[in-house]
Amino acid sequence: NKYVYFFGNGMAEGAASMRELLGGKGANLAEMTSLGIPVPAGFTISTEVCQLYYENGRSYTDEIVKQVEENLIRLEKAMGHELGNPDNPLFVSVRSGAAISMPGMMETILNLGMNDETVVGFASQTSNERLAWDSYRRFIQMYGSVAKDIPHHDFEEILAALKKEKGVELDTELDAEDLKELVSRYKELYKRVKGEDFPQDTKVQLWGAIDAVFNSWENERAIKYRQINNIKGLKGTAVNVQAMVFGNFGEDSGTGVCFSRDPSTGENVFYGEFLMNAQGEDVVAGIRTPEKLSTLAEKNPEIYRQLEDVKNRLEKHYKDMQDMEFTIEHGKLYILQTRNGKRTGRAAVKIALDMHKEGLISREEAVMRVTPAQIDQLLHPMIAASDRKSNKAIAKGLNASPGAACGKIVFTASEAEKEAEKGEKVILVRKETSPEDIGGMHAAQGILTSTGGMTSHAAVVARGMGKPSVVGCKDVVIDGDSCLISGQSFNKGDWVTIDGGTGEVFAGRLNLVPPAITDELKEFLSWVDEIRLSAKRKNCPEKGFKVRTNADTPEDARKARDFGAEGIGLCRTEHMFFEKGKIEAFREMIIADSEISRKKALEKILPLQKKDFTGIFKEMAGLPVTIRLLDPPLHEFVHMSHSELEELSMTSGIPQDVIRQRIDALKEQNPMLGHRGCRLGITYPEIYEMQAEAILSAACEVAVSGESVIPEIMIPLVGSVKELVYLKERIVAVADRVIASYGATVTYKVGTMIEVPRAALVADKIAEHAEFFSFGTNDLTQMTFGFSRDDVGSFLPDYLKLDMFEVDPFASLDTEGVGQLVALAAQRGRNTRPDIKLGICGEHGGDPSSIEFCYKTGLNYVSCSPYRVPIARLAAAQAVI
Ligand code: PEP
Ligand code: MG
Repeated sequence: NKYVYFFGNGMAEGAASMRELLGGKGANLAEMTSLGIPVPAGFTISTEVCQLYYENGRSYTDEIVKQVEENLIRLEKAMGHELGNPDNPLFVSVRSGAAISMPGMMETILNLGMNDETVVGFASQTSNERLAWDSYRRFIQMYGSVAKDIPHHDFEEILAALKKEKGVELDTELDAEDLKELVSRYKELYKRVKGEDFPQDTKVQLWGAIDAVFNSWENERAIKYRQINNIKGLKGTAVNVQAMVFGNFGEDSGTGVCFSRDPSTGENVFYGEFLMNAQGEDVVAGIRTPEKLSTLAEKNPEIYRQLEDVKNRLEKHYKDMQDMEFTIEHGKLYILQTRNGKRTGRAAVKIALDMHKEGLISREEAVMRVTPAQIDQLLHPMIAASDRKSNKAIAKGLNASPGAACGKIVFTASEAEKEAEKGEKVILVRKETSPEDIGGMHAAQGILTSTGGMTSHAAVVARGMGKPSVVGCKDVVIDGDSCLISGQSFNKGDWVTIDGGTGEVFAGRLNLVPPAITDELKEFLSWVDEIRLSAKRKNCPEKGFKVRTNADTPEDARKARDFGAEGIGLCRTEHMFFEKGKIEAFREMIIADSEISRKKALEKILPLQKKDFTGIFKEMAGLPVTIRLLDPPLHEFVHMSHSELEELSMTSGIPQDVIRQRIDALKEQNPMLGHRGCRLGITYPEIYEMQAEAILSAACEVAVSGESVIPEIMIPLVGSVKELVYLKERIVAVADRVIASYGATVTYKVGTMIEVPRAALVADKIAEHAEFFSFGTNDLTQMTFGFSRDDVGSFLPDYLKLDMFEVDPFASLDTEGVGQLVALAAQRGRNTRPDIKLGICGEHGGDPSSIEFCYKTGLNYVSCSPYRVPIARLAAAQAVI
């Protein structure tokens, strides 16, 4: 069995394709070596050894030890130096490197091989005593803290004390004699804490360092990082042992980091920073300010030319933007690492476009290169990078709606509206929100709530508005006109900043950078659509995979169409009722004590609803518009102030106490499982009849004016076929009457949501009467798990922490459970009615991994809030590829 892979002198046993076994770093070092790139020789101990190390109680088999020692000899031969030989010492670095990069989570040890004798040899070889002793003291410090758990600050204290004694401020002001003294004090510390001398045997050092790297695979922060980033199924980390090269030999040496293209704009320019006479740590520590790469071109054109050549070769080879580390030792260039570079959303789009145009990658590859999250970045303001670095979040909730926002805290929707009118920027901070807060939510820059989950009112509405929002942030405790955030007190008017993309909350006012919708993004999305719309699937008779939007107003419809929506998948009619002028009539309808007075109130609403629908049909001319009939329980509409109650009593002629009784009677123990959805239509068919009339008369008017309309009437919360049959009969009667009265030719569909588990189970029967299904996966998730959508925020964090969920099932579809119901209903529906249109309009319709599931399941389209439409277009195309 092969455990160790050598690279050096233009020959490597590994390759880039062996990432799983050698880790990203090891695989790329091998690949670069084979390509003839100047890489210091070394060897990689495979990830399999990490796994065996843990299986064998943190120890190695004889075979592993033998292979490491053989490879050490090869390394010594390749470099012409020997580990531990005072006359000709070799020094190595020992670094971690897993298959998936986990930056900064695991350990690294540099300058290994330093001891009391090699330090002297090194000093005379380099004629640089100070450098030799500085390298030695750095090694003791690193080895002691990383491999032997001696607290880092114990070393720092000794260093600080010495500097004080010598009356200097900077490390660099210590001379060789001072550093010798420092080494002896570090060794004393080592002996005091460990009860043994600092190891002079360089083999002991090497194995100590290898152990330390393997141990770091299971350190707390690495485990946490894998949890947070959902990294699973890896064997462990590899260990890379590599000859050291020194960038601090003098003015002909240096070190730096470079990118083959600009990682923030994506421009095809060579970008990077370097420092002469320095080691990597110095660049990172920020003691000296690094210089621009262009300065290297002036100072050392030959090295620059070599570096540029390496860059070109690596980029061509990997066909992606590279992030490289290099060191110059005595005027000779070495490459220490290369990897695909991290980039902003803007850069990702530009690089993907350019690389395809340059002939490096196919269109499909270009589309796969940009993540939906990167597209999302482009559509919302973000916290400026420098402010993000220098500020720490004080609390974290659920990342309900992306984008960053800052403003003065207000605690009520009406304050939000008042302040916004004065031109103030505000953040609305509430326990939760409800439909009557819409105005305040609209007026605020962002919304922060202390309760609620990913499908709570605040989350859904904020996403629909494209407002940044953090919900379910337990560390926010509101008390009247002030609140505590993680114990820190805030008054009304104090500034906060929220990042709805990460769920973070910051104290104070951070700088934001605005979104950029560029021509480049448009071009990229046109490639995305080409792929998406030409998709052919066995389980879907229609060509292409469409993206619709959830929109309730003409303005949202227009926005969504601009973002590329191909119709409306869900228009929630109830949101229209909250507007002034409508809510009063609607309340009259609710408290009506007879069918006659109910119908009278509905007559007032009819023309208003019709107007809304007309606007939406016009905006969506030529595209399908699914309008859902009334869904929420009626009590949501009757939260009233005293003066509103008085007014209602006046207009309706019903005494106030009778109205109160009526409202009390509407209260339910479990309103989400109560009198809502089609159950309202069963009890009050006249409501649905009014809505059908408003929809069809709007459609006819728009059709008569020459635009094409494609209305789809959707009945919510159906659980049995009888509910559907009963309501459809009435809707069709109204619709046909209206169409006839206009003498128009309008074809419409009547369909249902599949959001009650029973509906999914009897989907074959339901499809006999439904012309389309739209999966309401918010309710379907709620009812399949039995988790209340509005209360899940209080216990979900525990589930996530305990790994019972990988992700919030209200944000990303639970394909294992809820997904079965979707797949089953899709299949049964198509068995009965092969051309039945299938879509999804729950919040999952904008979630990339759920979109992939919908594609595989044969759905015709996904529907999501306007701001998520571009993300969904990309995710849909990626599902197709
Ligand atoms: C759903 O349940 O998934 C849905 C879209 O309807 P609502 O969120 O309005 O209940
Ligand atoms: Mg629903």
